[in-house]
Amino acid sequence: MARARCSCGQLGIEIEGDPVLNALCHCTDCRRRTGSAFGWQAYFLEGQLTGKSGTAKARPVPVAEPQVRHFCPDCGTTVWWTSGTAPGMVGVAGGTFDPGVLGEPIASYRDENRCVWLSTPEGWTIYP
Ligand SMILES: [Zn+2]
Ligand SMILES: [Zn+2]
Repeated sequence: MARARCSCGQLGIEIEGDPVLNALCHCTDCRRRTGSAFGWQAYFLEGQLTGKSGTAKARPVPVAEPQVRHFCPDCGTTVWWTSGTAPGMVGVAGGTFDPGVLGEPIASYRDENRCVWLSTPEGWTIYP
């Protein structure tokens, strides 16, 4: 069982098993969501989300792939979301897991938008 939580610890979830997809995304929206150079996300089947603690606020986001993001109203960290393009799945922000729990990503999305000073490890699948 893996735990993920927001920056202040108010909001947390528990996940069973391995992710269906573990990937980075370099799109502008992921950068703004995280405040970082890319978004790191792991997708799980909804049934793998086995526990929640704290209070989340939900925000529909009309990006190219519409999402409903669940974030901590106290510190603002987005912990998980659902996506119109991935029904039955839940996306979890990779950086919210306890350190070392989530394995290495296998894919890079919106790679054409990747910062020039970032390289992609060998063996990853690269998507536009
Ligand atoms: Zn918080
Ligand atoms: Zn993105």
